[in-house]
Amino acid sequence: MALLPITVLGAPILREETVPVEVVTDELRQLAADMFETMKVADGVGLAAPQVGRRERLCVVEVDEVRLTLFNPEIVAREGRIKWEEGCLSIPNTFGTVDRSERVTVRAINEHGAPVEVTADGLLGVCLQHEIDHLHGKLFIDHLSFLKRRSVLATWDKEKERYPKLVRIFGPGGTDPLPSADGETEGATESAAKPLT
Ligand SMILES: [Zn+2]
Repeated sequence: MALLPITVLGAPILREETVPVEVVTDELRQLAADMFETMKVADGVGLAAPQVGRRERLCVVEVDEVRLTLFNPEIVAREGRIKWEEGCLSIPNTFGTVDRSERVTVRAINEHGAPVEVTADGLLGVCLQHEIDHLHGKLFIDHLSFLKRRSVLATWDKEKERYPKLVRIFGPGGTDPLPSADGETEGATESAAKPLT
């Protein structure tokens, strides 16, 4: 297992289209395992491959008891509308309210190469939409109105100074602290308590 650096806004890969995965190899299973580990340390509930500098169409999600490794995920059905305050592990300490579908059905391939279909609402439903956006070079800020987006980017303008290399590295000497034994991240702000994807 390994902790991976997380790319932040400004890194070109976050704006690139991903490449569909044809065969789920052991290397890709290991990548997914490393993404889960990194996501946990970063206090997130979802993470997409471009966020760890990879172009495979892969994301991982863990909300409550549901843990999903999704290759080539696609939204095949949507229902209703919902507003959700979102954050992103690639735009730390920056939040905005996004219009999403209330319920989505996603088809994908799992870590064993088998087809799966998931229907979800609430946090899991929003998280799936956020991660699938990442796989097409899209970020939650793209869903905001011009004024909201400008205000979120003003916050990010200050935050980004912490990440001159456009990556977050966890641990000693890195840009972000590792969580302490009691699960609290050192120096965490109130807003950091919100689930991040
Ligand atoms: Zn994100």
